[in-house]
This record gives sequence, structure tokens and C-alpha cells, in this order.
Amino acid sequence: MLELLQLLQPKVEMVQEVATKSTKNQYQENQMQEPYKLFELNYGYDALEPYIDAKTVELHYSKHTKTYVDKANEALIGLNKQGLSEAQCYELSKQLDDNVGGVLTHQLYFNCLAKPKENGGVGGVYPTQGAFYEAVKMRWTSFENLKEALKKAGLARFGSGWVFLHQDLSITTAPNQEWPRGKKTILAIDVWEHAYYLKYQNRRVDYLENIFYVINWNYVESLFKS
Ligand code: MN
Repeated sequence: MLELLQLLQPKVEMVQEVATKSTKNQYQENQMQEPYKLFELNYGYDALEPYIDAKTVELHYSKHTKTYVDKANEALIGLNKQGLSEAQCYELSKQLDDNVGGVLTHQLYFNCLAKPKENGGVGGVYPTQGAFYEAVKMRWTSFENLKEALKKAGLARFGSGWVFLHQDLSITTAPNQEWPRGKKTILAIDVWEHAYYLKYQNRRVDYLENIFYVINWNYVESLFKS
């Protein structure tokens, strides 16, 4: 039991690190009652229109993402109960792993999006100078090429999953809610159908084309530099 918790500790710490200060205080005061709290969305549900519709953002954030938070809490509380069997420990650890993964991926995804530039936001605006710009140019020749590579990776990902860009500017994909380990991830693109189905139905290719109008490259750049 102790070993299991030690194994999970790095992940638990990551979520605690991204939690707000008030959540941390609440966590300390309330012990294990509700260690994870749904992160705040930095914009309104309609901010990503017309590329990602308000209804999709609302459901994706307030229902899908909230469920990962609730399930992570449920698993963590369960793991702290006395007298669990190995099988119960395994199931709860798996639940914790999957759902903390879900929280981390979605937090990065939503933070990497912003209102499109034609509506006064920074969405879709590529950097034109600086270390990040130079590094992208060196590795991918241009932001257009990087975009095409991310799109291609998203289309190649079979079933539900993610496309990630890392600090070394490599691209990987993962199934389900697998948070990438051993790399610093600076951009996450959700290719689960729930991320686009209402507006794009089965057309993942159209979603992957349009999401680039709302990518917040300023935020991605800030993670690249951190
Ligand atoms: Mn999702």
C-alpha cells in the first residue's frame, strides 16, 4: 500500500502543483476530502467560436473534465481506506492514474487555447521572433510545417487520444488519457470525439485544421521557455 502510494506520488505532486493556492489551503484544512479541484477556465465558453463552439467547450470542461476530477478524488479517497485487497488497490491506482492523466491533459489543452485574433484575441498568432520562433524554424522550418506535422499526428492517432508537442519540439501521440512521462510537454491537442463531435461530427481533419485558429502560441512559448 505504501509502495503504491509512493509510486503515484510524483503524479499527485504534479496535480497539487497546478492546483490553485486556495485549493491547497482547502486541501490542508479538509485533509483528504477533496484534494483535486477543477481548474479555472481562462475564458468564456463562447471564446473559441467559431472554431470550437460554445456548447462543446461547456460540455468538455464542465462535464467531461469535471468527471476526471471527481473520479481522481474518488480513487484517492478509496486508496486511503484501511484493509484494501491487492485487487482493490490495483483498480483504484489505475483509476487514479487514468483520471489524474485526464486532469493534466485537459488543463494543458484548455490553457493552450485562446480567442481567435479576428475577435481580438491572441489565438492563432504565431510568434515572429525570439528563442521559441528560432527553435521552431530550426526544427520544423516554419510554424506552418509544425502545424501540418501536428495535424498529421492527430489524424494518425487511432481512436481516442492526444497529440503532444514537447519542449524539445518533438511530437508524440498517446491513447486515452495517458500523460506523457519523461518529457516537458508544452502543447496538448485533444483528439477524442467529445472535443469536436457536435460541430465537426466525424471530421477530425476539419477540427484539426480549425483548432490552429485558437492555439495560444504565447502560452506555448511561455512553457517552452520555462
Ligand atoms: Mn477531452
